[in-house]
Amino acid sequence: MNNFFEIKNATFKVSGSEKVKDVSFSIKNEGDIICLLGPSGIGKTTILRSIAGLEKIYQGEINLKDKILSSANIHVEPEDRKIALSFQENSLFPHYTIVKNINLSSRNQNDKKINISEIIKILNLESILNKYPHQVSAGEAQRASLARSLNSNPDLLLLDEPLSNVDQSLKEEIQVKLKQILKKLKITTIIVTHDSYEAFYLGDKCGIILDKELKQFDDPYNVYHFPNSEKVVKFLNRGVLIPAKVTSPKSLENDDLGVITGNFVKPFAIGKKVKLLLQPEDLHHDDKSNLKFDVVDIKFRGTSFIYTLKTDTNNLLPVFVHSHHLHQHEINDKFGIKKPIHIEHIVCF
Ligand code: ADP
Ligand code: MG
Repeated sequence: MNNFFEIKNATFKVSGSEKVKDVSFSIKNEGDIICLLGPSGIGKTTILRSIAGLEKIYQGEINLKDKILSSANIHVEPEDRKIALSFQENSLFPHYTIVKNINLSSRNQNDKKINISEIIKILNLESILNKYPHQVSAGEAQRASLARSLNSNPDLLLLDEPLSNVDQSLKEEIQVKLKQILKKLKITTIIVTHDSYEAFYLGDKCGIILDKELKQFDDPYNVYHFPNSEKVVKFLNRGVLIPAKVTSPKSLENDDLGVITGNFVKPFAIGKKVKLLLQPEDLHHDDKSNLKFDVVDIKFRGTSFIYTLKTDTNNLLPVFVHSHHLHQHEINDKFGIKKPIHIEHIVCF
């Protein structure tokens, strides 16, 4: 078999209007998890609905286990696809209890990989099994709907923002358990999320959808460290782009920071003016340094602080500092940056 799942040059439409164009990506192995990220309204749900067969495609191809499911001429009906879609909004049947809802999807009992009582336990659903959907919280309904999708024993599981209504404290716990279940049972899954940390944690690969295109499809590490466009950088919002000039094959210069050395991910001509990606972990704090900037914002993240510094040319630089750093700095304090500055992978546009 080639790829377990594949989309080739597909264009996704809703009500005749084109949402995402010319999408191609594949899932090589059964049990791989793909996370799709993108702003609201970009067409993520449309892609999942099309993969499930609820929307037709008019261009390109969708293949699962070497069989064409959708193309310009072929459209396998949703019920014949062995694909489970867990909808973004609560789709539980209101007149059935939670347990009945979960068991509704139970099929393919013989080759069943799923142990539903284990799933119910993992998803913390035991206490609400006999309640009706209107008697449970949005997060509980979302978890019940996730259990129902898993219970259908699909070849491909599609989860549309499955944890968006789950409380933060429970969310991280469920992310860990969900990943364990999917990996243990080798359930191939495409998850739509707007949370990049969730995508980086769950996804073997992440796809970033922007401006009607799948802009980047890559390992989470690469999406973060080697974003392939300014748009991806801005969407992930984990760093800033500052002006710089390339001064050698291993260095560049910025008016505020001076010389920065490192390894260019993509070579640039010497003398070229570029935008350099600066991420919070690229600069290091040093009180003794004479390179100092004003603190304009401080975000306490528990394990770390992210300081925002304002430079003389009005650039805002994020700096990661370990949260055990002994003395704290206040807004308007001068904050030193360690020299020389070395950035392991230099990403420029
Ligand atoms: P996302 O899931 O990324 O937020 P959707 O796939 O739900 O985006 O929607 C993409 C775009 O298509 C949105 O602008 C939305 O308003 C529009 N859309 C979604 N469903 C329909 C529909 N049934 N009819 C017309 N427009 C729709
Ligand atoms: Mg959506």
